[in-house]
Amino acid sequence: MTRVAIIGAGFGGVAAAAELLRQGFRDIVLLEKADRLGGVWRDNTYPGCACDVPAPLYSFSFALNPDWSRRYPPREEIISYLNRCAEKSGVSGLIRFGVEVASASWDGRQWCITLTDGVTLEADVLVPAVGQLSRPSIPSLPGAETFRGPAMHTAQWDPDVPVDGRRIGVIGTGASVIQLVPEIAGRADRVTVFQRTAPWTLPKPDRRYGPVRRAAYRKVPLLMRLSRAATWGLTLIQGAAVAGNPVVNPLVRGYSWAQRRWQVRDPELRAKVTPVEPLGCKRVLFTNAWLPALTRPDVDLVTEKIEEITPDGVRTADGVEHPCDVLVYGTGFAATEFLAPIRITGRDGVRLEDEWRGGAHAYLGMTVPGFPNMFLIYGPNTNTGNTSVIYFHESQARYLAQAVRRVAAEGNPLEVRAERATVYDQEIQERLADSVWTGCQSWYRTASGRVVTNWPGKAVEYRRRTARLDPADFIERVEEAAPQRAEAG
Ligand code: NAP
Repeated sequence: MTRVAIIGAGFGGVAAAAELLRQGFRDIVLLEKADRLGGVWRDNTYPGCACDVPAPLYSFSFALNPDWSRRYPPREEIISYLNRCAEKSGVSGLIRFGVEVASASWDGRQWCITLTDGVTLEADVLVPAVGQLSRPSIPSLPGAETFRGPAMHTAQWDPDVPVDGRRIGVIGTGASVIQLVPEIAGRADRVTVFQRTAPWTLPKPDRRYGPVRRAAYRKVPLLMRLSRAATWGLTLIQGAAVAGNPVVNPLVRGYSWAQRRWQVRDPELRAKVTPVEPLGCKRVLFTNAWLPALTRPDVDLVTEKIEEITPDGVRTADGVEHPCDVLVYGTGFAATEFLAPIRITGRDGVRLEDEWRGGAHAYLGMTVPGFPNMFLIYGPNTNTGNTSVIYFHESQARYLAQAVRRVAAEGNPLEVRAERATVYDQEIQERLADSVWTGCQSWYRTASGRVVTNWPGKAVEYRRRTARLDPADFIERVEEAAPQRAEAG
């Protein structure tokens, strides 16, 4: 039996395991460091956390859900959806909770995985599925350690920290903060938002899904497919805008302008929330509540640079100290450091962190020369700014299943040819060099400017290119063949 170890039980890990099960493989384990599945949806519990991709698309193609309560459902619904999918597909029973992978090394025949408690296990195929947004990034601001009150990252929200009647300082204006602030404004005594760069926003076409629609979806699943297709069409428009389409881009920018004009009457505040960076170089944020929240008398938007954190608040470059009882870091994630802190050692003792020193790269976002039988889910250059990452996860899961079948059938490890991977990477980087994502600094890029997270083309191109595993992409290793352990499945 070919043994597959998947690291992480979020959407990516569940997608991979479900596909392998469907294809008849049984010796699968998911190693999950937390005590529940869910990945980012488990970790992010801040008030207002909800999907910003429409649910008809933010779903597995094999498990469309007639029961979404709305187009952009809250995280609780997404978590229970993922749990149901894992249960129904048989993945739940494969998860080992509370086990954290410290390292994995290839011994020439198999992967030896060491957990943080020292326990070891072996697998033929290693599938890191740890996501791109799993490790919070907190900037080291001067004086941060002197702050007297509670301080937390949006992804480490502590429900025991009181918000009501407190003065809350929120650093950042990204996807998480624009969901959080409208929820806590009005409950808090005052919310002070520290903005470095104004994000692009668009009205969120959210709506409730009533009982009639839900019943219709249950009765005629084709209707769900149609809704998914229509949503897909909308993401193509967004994609075209971000790609700089000369017709769509100005239209979408105009729509965003109209939203600011409509929702923010004060010209001074409107100037502050007007983005200066190119549309789409960071994630475009769909929201109906963010700008109105900023217009409230008990919410301040501070655009002066943060000078230091003091024991009682935040001092900005203009010398003003903004008193805060609680500090919230909505400062994003260390997305470009894929797989860290897990230490991965491949063939001939090569360390993945050394291989990736100039920026993470992987053939088709999944496999790296020198690291046989390792296939990443949501690896380098497989993120999308416009559509659903779950579509990418499913493409990767299907490719993975072909790889596992091949390993099982032939007994040889699969290692991508270095020259194929290099040519592929050059192509991806050349295309990205012309993309909007090089127009500003964001979590898509390393400090040196390489775009390591995003896919440069349309999602269907990725699906097409990963549809069939080409054996010619991999090194032939007949003479080094590992002893055949078992047949497929
Ligand atoms: P983010 O989009 O990376 O935003 C981080 C914010 O913190 C930015 O406004 C950034 O300013 C600011 N910041 C960072 N360092 C700072 C510093 N030293 N001083 C002042 N400001 C600083 O992070 P996020 O909001 O957590 O979202 C990350 C990603 O998670 C999103 O792009 C999205 O893909 C995902 N997400 C999804 C959902 C969903 O509904 N599906 C919800 C939340 C998040 P600059 O812009 O100037 O860098």
